[in-house]
Amino acid sequence: MWQAPPSKSQPPPSKSQPPLAERGKRWVVVSNRLPAHYDTRKRKFVISSGGLVSSLLGVNYQRPILWLGLTTESWDAKEIAASLKISDRIEVVPLTVAAELYDPYYNKFCNGVLWPLLHYETHSVSWDFDAWQKYQKVNRLVATTLLKLTSANDDLIWVHDFHLMLVAAQLRLKRQRQGVGFFLHVPFPSYEIFRQLPFRSAILRALLNFDLIGFHDYSYLMHFTQTLHYVLGINSSFNRIHFKGRSVDLGVYPVSIPTAAINKAARSKRVKEICANYRRRFRDKKIILGVDRLDYIKGIDLKLDIFHAFLQGYPDYRSKVSLIQVIVPSRTDVPAYQQLKENIEGRIGYINGYWGKADYVPIYYIYNSMQFHELLALCQLSDALLITSKRDGMNLVALEYVAAQMPAQPGQVLLSEFAGAVSIMPNAIAINPWHVEKSAAQLQHALQEDHEIIAARNAQMLDYLQDYTGGEWADSFMTDLLKSARRSVKLVEDINFPLRKNSPLLEKIKKIKAHRQRFLFVDFDGTLVPIQPRPEQAAIAAETLQALTTLQAQQGFAVVIVSGRDRNFLWQQFASQTFMLAAEHGAEYYDRQQECWHSLVSSPQDSWLPLALQMMEYYRQRVPSSFIEKKAYSLCWHYRNSPVLYATYQARKLTEELEFGLANFPAVVASGKRIVEAKAIEASKGAFTGWFIKNCMDAADASIVALGDDQTDEELFIALRPHDLSIKVGMEETKAAWRLSEQQDVLTFLRLLISA
Ligand code: UDP
Repeated sequence: MWQAPPSKSQPPPSKSQPPLAERGKRWVVVSNRLPAHYDTRKRKFVISSGGLVSSLLGVNYQRPILWLGLTTESWDAKEIAASLKISDRIEVVPLTVAAELYDPYYNKFCNGVLWPLLHYETHSVSWDFDAWQKYQKVNRLVATTLLKLTSANDDLIWVHDFHLMLVAAQLRLKRQRQGVGFFLHVPFPSYEIFRQLPFRSAILRALLNFDLIGFHDYSYLMHFTQTLHYVLGINSSFNRIHFKGRSVDLGVYPVSIPTAAINKAARSKRVKEICANYRRRFRDKKIILGVDRLDYIKGIDLKLDIFHAFLQGYPDYRSKVSLIQVIVPSRTDVPAYQQLKENIEGRIGYINGYWGKADYVPIYYIYNSMQFHELLALCQLSDALLITSKRDGMNLVALEYVAAQMPAQPGQVLLSEFAGAVSIMPNAIAINPWHVEKSAAQLQHALQEDHEIIAARNAQMLDYLQDYTGGEWADSFMTDLLKSARRSVKLVEDINFPLRKNSPLLEKIKKIKAHRQRFLFVDFDGTLVPIQPRPEQAAIAAETLQALTTLQAQQGFAVVIVSGRDRNFLWQQFASQTFMLAAEHGAEYYDRQQECWHSLVSSPQDSWLPLALQMMEYYRQRVPSSFIEKKAYSLCWHYRNSPVLYATYQARKLTEELEFGLANFPAVVASGKRIVEAKAIEASKGAFTGWFIKNCMDAADASIVALGDDQTDEELFIALRPHDLSIKVGMEETKAAWRLSEQQDVLTFLRLLISA
């Protein structure tokens, strides 16, 4: 593990840092493991290996840190902290979890399900539903502990990696609102892989409780947003998601290293001496270096194949090139890893037997953790670092190797395209390790390349790593987290029943009722009635109708049904009532006093309706269970019962075609909940509301309560005045000020409006 030496002097704040007042916030780092563990051989705490620990300890912490991590032992926090040598800035809190709980959580669920799945190794997944329960339990435990240890005002919580994906959801359940960010240190796989997970929806929903979610690479972020779209039907912009009235930010923060510290250590006398010794030992040889944790994702089998193919294909190099392969023990008690070790060792034995001579060892194999200085010396000794990961979140070794190079005798990095590091190392030699012959050829080319060219390439990468260090990585994430935490503050107030006594909603209703004229604008489908498989099946329930009637008769609310339905349908539904009716998004309006329908549309429809019908017909034929609803001023293609993906694709095509085809006609195209609609340009709930406010009410002393669930209702909400009350029904993004999460809550709300 390469750790920045402790530094007491504070570097000047960088431009990316938050203002001084904010910098006082404590960082609370939460990870599955603490950065140190007890070494039973050495009988003391030692710093752990691995990318996560390296990256977090490499940060030059400028503010107080609390690091919460799990353990199955009863460890003394002070002892651990002392082993980290930066105890003055990091307060370590070990959270002891019973071994019976930790084992299924960590070994069965994290390592047995999530790890292989997130790395595309689906055949290695062993599904375990009981372990999923334990995973939830441990996440709950972490959240409960955080609630005790932290305060919403003073702390920013940074949760690390796939072990703890449910923490923010658990925190939010307990109504703790604070800056909570999540960084995924491994890849987020393609939607096709992630959707195999039986717990996919629960995990995705839980993740959306963080304020900021960070990834190493943009491809991981894109996979995540695609998965949200296909699994949960949630759409997002490239860096933001709106979920349950909050915004969740997404970002790409490739992890980095303490470059200066590594570079300095690499120039130290000690490293030089070790390296000189190695050079004497391997005088006439070229050295390829491999440093990997024992894991199937690292593609060590492919590396051995490549090396074998290299010796096979380039005879001049036989006896002249050795591979030094360091394998750091990992998950030693997991049978799959034991098997992997056996396979690798068998293959090394085979290659050494095949190519070896009395004075030539093809592969030097080290199964152990290396001393920091020795590892640096190996980096300097070697002519190339060979990384053949099948999937790898980042791969820090690649970055560290560059920082350890000396320009006079530079080695170069051959880096798998499947490691996240490739996105920030354009000067490394990218290889596809599955293409064994080609990788062997690239290796051969790398070994005979001119030192000046290699040094120039390394210098460019080093420049980048000196600017963008591990500290910058952490700072940029935490600075963004601070902004996200502010932004994610609820824009829309949830209405939860039963209401609290002092709920601001009651206050608002009181003010609404104080107006001389009061109106209730209410949408039909999805608001007054649940969405039905076919539109003609929708009918208002007697109790809902009763509530509307009471509101009108006893509370003086004039009810206006503002719907996309045509006037015949609305007339059938409400014939015996005295409600005002606005059909086809307000294109037509039924005036109770004059007892007649008015049209607010003046443009001709004949020009475009037949054309739109022709276009829609094409899609109706192709998409099973889709149908066209024909109205006077609009045509609506419904696909609510159709196969989701196929229909969504066809809906996008139809929208594009309609927009293009109707561009010169007085019509607009709108998409809503599983519909694509072409409608007269004047048919808009917003335009209707504006017209109504101007012509049908005493604007100075009238208030409106408006409820709607669909995209078309957003225009209505926008047309309202500040003293009106707008309520979105459903969880999508909205311009409304208040929200009812489900259609079933509408009746409860209407009753509240009566009684409040
Ligand atoms: N490492 C170590 N001891 C060793 C060899 C490597 O601590 O003997 C460190 C290495 O310097 C790097 C980390 O372990 O910082 C490995 O991180 P990487 O991202 O490459 O792989 P991961 O272990 O996270 O899969």
